[in-house]
Amino acid sequence: MHKLIIPEIFNNSIKAFFTKKDIGVNIDKICYIYSINRERVYLPIQKHTDIIQLVSGDLTPKIADAVLTTDKGIFVGIQVADCVPILISDIKKNIIGAVHAGWRSTASCILKKTIQFMLQYFHSDPASIKIALGPSIRWSCYYVSREVKDVIFKATGEGKYYFQRDGGYFVDLPTANMYQAISMGIPIENIWISNECTYCNPREFYSFRYNKDHKGKQGGFIGIF
Ligand SMILES: [Zn+2]
Repeated sequence: MHKLIIPEIFNNSIKAFFTKKDIGVNIDKICYIYSINRERVYLPIQKHTDIIQLVSGDLTPKIADAVLTTDKGIFVGIQVADCVPILISDIKKNIIGAVHAGWRSTASCILKKTIQFMLQYFHSDPASIKIALGPSIRWSCYYVSREVKDVIFKATGEGKYYFQRDGGYFVDLPTANMYQAISMGIPIENIWISNECTYCNPREFYSFRYNKDHKGKQGGFIGIF
């Protein structure tokens, strides 16, 4: 049996999961497990941006680090190896999305902007938006420079998502993104956070910092069926 991580906060009509190393971003395997049409899977070209893409008919990959769709049968995903994979849905309006939040995209408020897009474009009610933050590098495993902490702080504001030790800073990106979501009106009970750390579990997850290479990625995937 494959070891998928299933955040149990979405509707039954939504399939949402995070993969580990065994499946990674092997799209053929994922399509086989879920009986998904390979042609209906969309992964953007990730560049640590704050670009949000709304996809429907045309599934030619474009540069984006957040993807939204309202089309049934389209499966959107993002790939990570320490960065935070985020799955999001307006469960009332059947909008789904996947967001890639490393420190750069967290500092450029990608999750806030994705929520903002849902509020403005789809008139989503924040109370209907649910968010799952998947496995990523966490807390004392994630040392950053003062400059990186500062840009994340500028985007996020006060909160318990970083600490200082031995002249350096340690940041928890899932918690920073949780604060950003709450600042947009998302109720805390609508936010699910994985307790896994990719760096602590290199057998289970790809970790860029642990392996010091780009050998592989796991993913976060979501679709309406
Ligand atoms: Zn760790």
